[in-house]
Amino acid sequence: MNISIVGTGYVGLVSGACLADRGHKVACVDIDKRKVDLINSAQAPIHELGLPELLKRNVGARLSATTDLAAAVTGSDITFIAVGTPAIDGHIDLRFVEQAAAEIGRAMRDKKSYHTLVVKSTVIPGTTDGVVRQSAEKASGKVAGRDFGLGMNPEFLTEGRAIEDFMTPDRIVIGGIDRRSQDVLQSVYASFDKTPVIRTNCRTAEMIKYASNSLLATMISFSNEIARLCSAVGDIDALDVMRGVHQSLYLTSYVENKEPVKAALSSFLEAGCGFGGSCLPKDVTALVAQGADLGIPTPVLNAVLDVNRNQPEEMVRLVTKHFPDLRGVKTTILGLAFKPDTDDIRESPAFPIIRLLRSAGADITAYDPIARPENHEGLAGVRLAQSLPDALKQAQVVMLVTRWQQFEDVAGELAKLGLNPLVVDGRRVLDESAFKCYEGIGWRRLATPHAGRPS
Ligand code: NAD
Repeated sequence: MNISIVGTGYVGLVSGACLADRGHKVACVDIDKRKVDLINSAQAPIHELGLPELLKRNVGARLSATTDLAAAVTGSDITFIAVGTPAIDGHIDLRFVEQAAAEIGRAMRDKKSYHTLVVKSTVIPGTTDGVVRQSAEKASGKVAGRDFGLGMNPEFLTEGRAIEDFMTPDRIVIGGIDRRSQDVLQSVYASFDKTPVIRTNCRTAEMIKYASNSLLATMISFSNEIARLCSAVGDIDALDVMRGVHQSLYLTSYVENKEPVKAALSSFLEAGCGFGGSCLPKDVTALVAQGADLGIPTPVLNAVLDVNRNQPEEMVRLVTKHFPDLRGVKTTILGLAFKPDTDDIRESPAFPIIRLLRSAGADITAYDPIARPENHEGLAGVRLAQSLPDALKQAQVVMLVTRWQQFEDVAGELAKLGLNPLVVDGRRVLDESAFKCYEGIGWRRLATPHAGRPS
């Protein structure tokens, strides 16, 4: 099929490259010419495992990028909208989606053949059938369902393993305003014939995405709340608690003579310094706002956001236990990306932690193996280190924020430097016994331990 994708970010580019690899002819559209030029020279504008190889294989053959939206729409049968949907004042900002829908509508005006417009961006229920339909109809002078197709196809990929997620999806949600829209959309995924498909209307498709992200966020905040209780009581390790919870039949499958299989969902039941990224915080916020607009209280989701907002303070509290006065204390933040294996720093917990440390007067150094944002306002006054040893030299406090694999050897690097700083483990990946002074989320050793650390 001939496909165009408007918005060539993490979702648009990965979707475009994967669909091209599956044999479609794909034009990726973006207003950012730098991205377009990079893609056309087969270079990845984002850090994503496997993406450079996919671009090398497909650019110039089935994949191209352009700033010319009208030409891309005219030359394709179906257009996906994959632009950003940030939160603004606690509500979803649909500006980019509306703008894209209107531009696609203008391009459809003179098009003779049937075209299908599909929203892939995460949008609040009612958007595709509401503002997207209105914008596209107004700009095209055509009627959705009669003259063109309209669908909603949420994306579930996770940054850091986005290619694998897209190529072997756990589900494909096909939302459409009518059967024809659904059929055209589903034919894009014809080669994914082993994947369960859910055919439904656009609003349900939209809500599936919000419900999925809200569940993951809820599990994270639940784990962090339990972790707080564990460390408040003392001598309870939240990691062991969750290990015990994981063994439940609900989360682990046991088949006789086979290794137990833990549900991947279990990875969201772990204490940490909070969720971030371009999806969970803004999506839960948008759903809460929709509830408020509808007069439907969302106490569970409100609490999920509250717990998450407080998690950076919990990290800093572990530091001030040892350094009540942080003025001039040399503090190293390990990790700026919101999760490992990506360069995405949007809503990363590192930034509220840095804000709190800065207002307390700490002398901050930050290091991330991939995410090196230049001139980022959240990093004003922060020294950006070039390597792990460079980040650790002179540190009095080390705070592990992102679970990058190379940070697991912090103990070895500190030993080489002959340093014994306070280490605050925000992801519980370090071995406490390797440090003289250690604090971890969800673990507090009592001054007079009852029976030592469990396990
Ligand atoms: P992004 O910010 O990385 O990319 C958006 C791109 O759209 C940018 O390159 C921007 O220049 C471009 N753009 C904006 N307006 C445009 C226009 N009118 N014409 C052409 N290009 C335009 O965003 P993203 O992370 O890829 O997210 C896109 C959507 O997918 C969001 O709704 C997000 O919630 C959802 N989503 C993201 C992920 C993820 O892991 N990033 C996963 C699932 C769903």
